[in-house]
Amino acid sequence: MKCPYCNEEMIQGYIYGDRYALKWSSQKLILGTWVQNGIKLGNSGDIFSRPRVETYSCVSCKKMIISY
Ligand SMILES: [Zn+2]
Repeated sequence: MKCPYCNEEMIQGYIYGDRYALKWSSQKLILGTWVQNGIKLGNSGDIFSRPRVETYSCVSCKKMIISY
C-alpha cells in the first residue's frame, strides 16, 4: 500500500492491545471513564491471544492507517 501523504511504500503490521482492546473516541475521557459510542480497535483477547488491529505504517512520515 502506498502512503497517501508521501507516496512511499507502507509496511503492514498490527497494533496490539495488552489485556483489553484499544478504543478510539472523538471525546476526551471524563475522570478516566470510558464514554459511549467510541470505536473498539480489535476484539478483546482471551488467554491465548491479545487484541490486535491490522495497520499499515509509513516510516517516512510516521503515519499509520488502521482497518477496524
Ligand atoms: Zn508517508
